[in-house]
Amino acid sequence: MAELSKYDLLVVGAGILGTFHAYHALRAGFSVALIEQNQAPQSATTRNFGQVVPSGMNAKWQKIGRRSLEIYKELQNEADISLQPHGSVYIASDAEEVGLIEELALQNKEAGYSSVLLNSSECLSRWPVLQPSYCKAGLFFPEEVSLDPRVAVGRVIAYMRAHMGLDYFPSCRIIQSLVNESGVEFRSSDQRAFSGARGIICNGSEFQNLYPDLFYQSDLEVSKLHMLRTVPQDGLRIKGNILTGRTIRRYESFTECPSFKAVKEREPQESFAKEYGVHILLTQAPDGTVVLGDSHEYADAGNKDALGFEMDQSINAFMLQEAKAIFRLQNWKIQKTWFGIYSQCKTKDIFQHHIDDKLHIVTGIGGKGMTGSPGFAELNIRRIFSL
Ligand SMILES: Cc1cc2nc3c(=O)[nH]c(=O)nc-3n(C[C@H](O)[C@H](O)[C@H](O)COP(=O)(O)OP(=O)(O)OC[C@H]3O[C@@H](n4cnc5c(N)ncnc54)[C@H](O)[C@@H]3O)c2cc1C
Repeated sequence: MAELSKYDLLVVGAGILGTFHAYHALRAGFSVALIEQNQAPQSATTRNFGQVVPSGMNAKWQKIGRRSLEIYKELQNEADISLQPHGSVYIASDAEEVGLIEELALQNKEAGYSSVLLNSSECLSRWPVLQPSYCKAGLFFPEEVSLDPRVAVGRVIAYMRAHMGLDYFPSCRIIQSLVNESGVEFRSSDQRAFSGARGIICNGSEFQNLYPDLFYQSDLEVSKLHMLRTVPQDGLRIKGNILTGRTIRRYESFTECPSFKAVKEREPQESFAKEYGVHILLTQAPDGTVVLGDSHEYADAGNKDALGFEMDQSINAFMLQEAKAIFRLQNWKIQKTWFGIYSQCKTKDIFQHHIDDKLHIVTGIGGKGMTGSPGFAELNIRRIFSL
């Protein structure tokens, strides 16, 4: 077995969470190996919208997400990580949703986070892609950004290799983890050994390789999300992330609004949208394609297979029908569909487990990983290394 040099930190999992733990450790001057089981990351981190939206988070995660925005923007100045700086807008479709965005605007004012209320004609002139019949008002967050998730994490890794001294090991599945007096040791399925003073495992929704019982006995669950990508919309540029009425009725930031509870109580108890957790978000990728989604189906970590391997066309058809009531695209032809899976805790905002203060398992960041990971990883690296 080839023995590799000892690192200050070994990170397992090159999704967004593992990648930014590696980034902050390197910035602090530590030697880091980042280890990924696939040829290139291809889990939740590459399957999402790439929306960086602290506006949708609760007060705690909004602060973390705002720090992530700064980190992404700093990185974009150094290397093209696919960042588009065009903000996010929440489009309200009825009086209740207008009330909620007005309340959120007030909360953001108190928190010192810029947001601008727009009336319907202001929204329609900024985003002509909106259906006039749907759009009643909007709340715009100018500081927010989007990334192209197909390339963003790979570019951050490439930057760290070229400029920060990262050692990166793709196609390397860690199947054994040992904590001893001198630190941690990882072994891969192809007999490679890694040694580090500390280790961090950011395994996303992959529970079978390491510590399966820990995950199966935890309150971690997984969510499966259906996504759609249209063909390129020639000549049409849709600026920023567009989030719509059902998102206003779903995202954590709105749960802190005074009228949220009453609005939810007035909703029908049963509907297709509720059963499959559908809300409609849109982001246009740099290649002109438009990403639409999403839905949510849940299973416990130990029962992940219950989510199945198939796409349910009734969910895709419903999302498309909903999207057509909101947007006026030139071409609704769907080029690609896929699903992504993320993990989250039922009772906490992230899963963390520590072994001897040397090995740290961090996953279950839920639907906020693209927004929360850079800021969270910075805090976590400071804590782990007592910086
Ligand atoms: C469809 C969809 C849309 C979303 N939209 C957004 C959005 O717009 N904005 C937002 O903020 N969040 C969004 N999210 C959430 C976000 O994508 C996730 O929170 C985030 O990607 C989770 O990152 P992660 O690094 O924890 O996990 P993952 O991306 O799952 O990465 C974990 C990595 O660890 C590797 N790994 C696991 N075990 C091992 C092992 N033993 N050895 C080596 N490698 C290993 C895996 O191969 C994988 O690459 C969305 C999620 C989905 C699914």
